[in-house]
Amino acid sequence: MTKEEQLTELKERCLGCRKCGLRDGCNNVVFGVGNPESEVMFVGEGPGEQEDLRGEPFVGRAGQLLDLMLDAVGLSREKNIYIANIVKCRPPGNRDPLPDEQETCIAWLREQFAIIRPKVIVCLGRVAAGRLMNPDIKITREHGQLVEKNGVMMMATLHPAALLRNPGQKPAAFEDYLKLRDYLEN
Ligand code: URA
Repeated sequence: MTKEEQLTELKERCLGCRKCGLRDGCNNVVFGVGNPESEVMFVGEGPGEQEDLRGEPFVGRAGQLLDLMLDAVGLSREKNIYIANIVKCRPPGNRDPLPDEQETCIAWLREQFAIIRPKVIVCLGRVAAGRLMNPDIKITREHGQLVEKNGVMMMATLHPAALLRNPGQKPAAFEDYLKLRDYLEN
């Protein structure tokens, strides 16, 4: 089976998931989007309102900013990256996903990693970085650092929604995207 076929099969199973309480309170399971052959995966924490309505990750205001920064370094969900979240169903009122919701749902993400086998995983924000890299990560200090974990390069960057709240942090965050581009080119 191609990666695309494997992901389609996984998505079908994921759409039927009822392993935690989030599915009852949301409209759509937001599985993930992008090129299954990508070297880079971006991981956020969970769908917001727009994502829940459309069934696609990062399509609200934060997602538009993400797409702009990606485009500036030659990356796009249509072409060469894959985007997913730690939890696939929207937590009510956009609260952080609870530890047990993350623990349950991350199994789907791990299967996505196993199929796509990315070279680099970029964690968008504290929740994803805390779960995938280091629970004690200080993202304002450690963002942009490429570190190897289990044979995969990992980087945390500031969440685009945080950049909308604190636009002064945009230049520092964009440095992370430039670093990623340099790493991919070399
Ligand atoms: N924020 C996230 O972490 N993920 C999304 O898909 C949208 C907003």
